[in-house]
Amino acid sequence: MLRRNLLHAALCGTAAGFAIAPSKAQQKMSQSDAGYQETPKNGLTCAACALFRPPRSCEVVQGDISPNGWCKFFDLPD
Ligand code: SF4
Repeated sequence: MLRRNLLHAALCGTAAGFAIAPSKAQQKMSQSDAGYQETPKNGLTCAACALFRPPRSCEVVQGDISPNGWCKFFDLPD
């Protein structure tokens, strides 16, 4: 019985992993919707944003993101 429960838990965990990955990717918005620009705004840059993922990615905006860019979802780290 224990073995069956462990197998069920493992299968459910795997299925959940597949379910989460695509939906997370779909949550990223386009650069145009985010108001992304490849230059800083008021001295603020993607490199200083909590959502920036080096070297050139963002947690919430799609595509190639310059460390010197900026968008309206800029989030200053705590
Ligand atoms: S400012 Fe932040 S949220 Fe906007 S594109 Fe740059 S890293 Fe992403």
